[in-house]
Amino acid sequence: MALAIDLSRRNIEARSGGPFGAVVFGPDHRVVAAGVNRVVPHTTSLAHAENMAYMLAQQRLQTPRLNDVLAPVTLASSSQPCCQCYGATIWAGIDRLLIGARAEDVMELTEFDEGPLPADWIGELERRGIAVRRDLLRDEARAVLRAYGESGGERY
Ligand SMILES: [Zn+2]
Repeated sequence: MALAIDLSRRNIEARSGGPFGAVVFGPDHRVVAAGVNRVVPHTTSLAHAENMAYMLAQQRLQTPRLNDVLAPVTLASSSQPCCQCYGATIWAGIDRLLIGARAEDVMELTEFDEGPLPADWIGELERRGIAVRRDLLRDEARAVLRAYGESGGERY
């Protein structure tokens, strides 16, 4: 989680995207791939940090479902996945989802709309074999969102 948050901070300092970072870990906490928000540079709404991390990990492992070849697989995301990344998380083949800031933090501190999720979004993930832990280094993740929001960053 510290790495995911550090990437989110570096992304806004470098002005290379929005204030979000995500890291895919395999067994023994080895990094498989990392992603940051690249929506504006890549001109696509799909380039959220979680999706970037999933795509790079899937390409690296040459599988669309990560835990077919490696288990357990963990995604650490500096913020709770939005509705798009929530869907991607269900199909990516991960076993654990670690979350820093909550969606309500994102919407409080920035202009981003996180979109609708099922009322029992954690239960829906857990029924699909994905364990969820929230509020990991939440204050640190919030600090990056606040810095971005106060800088008047774009809503991507
Ligand atoms: Zn997203």
